[in-house]
Amino acid sequence: MGPICGAGECTNTREQLGTRSQEPGANFERMKGSFGSPELRMADMILVVAEQREGKLNRVSFETIAGAQAIAKETGWTVEVVVPGSGIAGLAQELARAAVGKVYALESEALKAYTSDAYVHALKAFIGEKQPKLVLFPHTYQVRDFAPRLALALDRTLISDATGYKYEGGALRFTRQMFQGKFAADVSFGGEAPWMATVQIGAFRGDFSSEGSGQVENVTAAVADGPGRVTPHEVFQEAKQTVDLSQAEVIVAVGRGIKEQKNMVLAENLASALGGEVAASRPICDNGWLPLERQIGSSGQTVAPKLYIALGVSGAIQHIVGMKGSRTIVAINKDPEAPIFEIADVAVVGDLFQVVPALIEEVKKSRG
Ligand SMILES: Cc1cc2nc3c(=O)[nH]c(=O)nc-3n(C[C@H](O)[C@H](O)[C@H](O)COP(=O)(O)OP(=O)(O)OC[C@H]3O[C@@H](n4cnc5c(N)ncnc54)[C@H](O)[C@@H]3O)c2cc1C
Repeated sequence: MGPICGAGECTNTREQLGTRSQEPGANFERMKGSFGSPELRMADMILVVAEQREGKLNRVSFETIAGAQAIAKETGWTVEVVVPGSGIAGLAQELARAAVGKVYALESEALKAYTSDAYVHALKAFIGEKQPKLVLFPHTYQVRDFAPRLALALDRTLISDATGYKYEGGALRFTRQMFQGKFAADVSFGGEAPWMATVQIGAFRGDFSSEGSGQVENVTAAVADGPGRVTPHEVFQEAKQTVDLSQAEVIVAVGRGIKEQKNMVLAENLASALGGEVAASRPICDNGWLPLERQIGSSGQTVAPKLYIALGVSGAIQHIVGMKGSRTIVAINKDPEAPIFEIADVAVVGDLFQVVPALIEEVKKSRG
C-alpha cells in the first residue's frame, strides 16, 4: 500500500481509514491484479479528472489540464480528460476545446449528485480500464473527500496539494508545501503507476491551457448495483453570503492595517466597485470581522483570482501560500519593507486610508 501524503503528514491509509466491510464494486478485485501485471503495458497517458457541480464546470479543472499539458510536454505522454456526472455531454464538449486527446463523459444517474461511493466505484473501474500513467485532480473539497478512498481502492499512491512538478532523469516528482508552507518538499511516488496527484488551486494558469479539439466519447460508468451507502440530499449552503472564493475573479483582502472593524466598509466598497469579494488575513477572521470562510492562507482558503488587492496585509508566509497563485497582486502597505511587496506585481507604499478612497473614486469613474 502506498502512502497518502496530506497536509504535512504521510499516513498509511489502510490503518487510518480502517478496512471497509463492503468493497465498492464487484469488479474491483478483478482489476486490482491487472495493475501490477507485467504483460499489460501502461498507456503513457495523463488522465485529468475534471470537476463539475450541478452542470457547471469548476474552472480549476482547466488549471489541472494546463498542469497535465506542461507535464506532457516534457514527458511526451498524452493528455486525456474524464468528467463524471449525469447529462454532462455539453460539459465534455466544453473541456474538449483544450488541446487534449480525448474527453470522456463518464455518465451514470448515480453520479448526478456527488457521493464518494459512486465516484470511487466509477473512477476505479474507469482507471482500471484506461490504465493511465498519471491521474491528476484539482485539489478541491470534493476531491479531498474521494481521492484518498480511490487511492486506497486502487492500492496506489496519492500525492496531495501539489504546487508544481519536476521531471528529471526520467523521474517525476511533485512539489508540496510542508509545515504550514515553511518548507517545500519534492516528493516522488511509491509503487507502480497509475500514480495520482491533486493540484493546488493557482499552481497552474487555467487560461494558459493550450487550445485544441479533443474528441468526446460517452462512457457508461460502472457503478454498484443496489442502493448506495450514502443518500445525497440538497446541496447545503450555510448562509446566503457563503462564497467559494476559489471561483472569485477579484478579491480585496484586508489585513490588520485596517485597524478597526468599522473601517471594513472601505474594503467592502472597493470590492463592490470592482465586482469582487472581500477576504482577510487570519487576525481579521479571528476578531470575527469576517467569517472564517473568507480567511486566506494555510489555515484558510487557497485562491488564484485574476486580481488580488491586499490592504494592510504584511505578507506572512501563512498568508502568502494561500494567494501567491493570483494573476496580478496589488499590495497597499505603509511599510516599504513589508514582505508582501516581494510577491506583489504592483506595490503601493502608502496609507490605505488615503489610497483606497481615491482608488474607489477612480474605479467608479472608469466604470461610468
Ligand atoms: C499555524 C498558523 C497558521 C496561520 N494561518 C494563517 C492563515 O491561514 N492566514 C493568515 O493570513 N495568517 C495565518 N497565520 C498568521 C500569520 O502568521 C500572520 O500573523 C498574519 O497573516 C498577519 O496578518 P496581517 O498581515 O493582517 O497583520 P500584520 O502582520 O500585523 O500586518 C499588518 C500590516 O498592515 C500594515 N499597515 C498598518 N497600518 C497601515 C495603513 N494605515 N496603511 C497601509 N498599511 C498599513 C503594516 O505595515 C503591516 O505590514 C497563521 C499563523 C500560524 C502560526
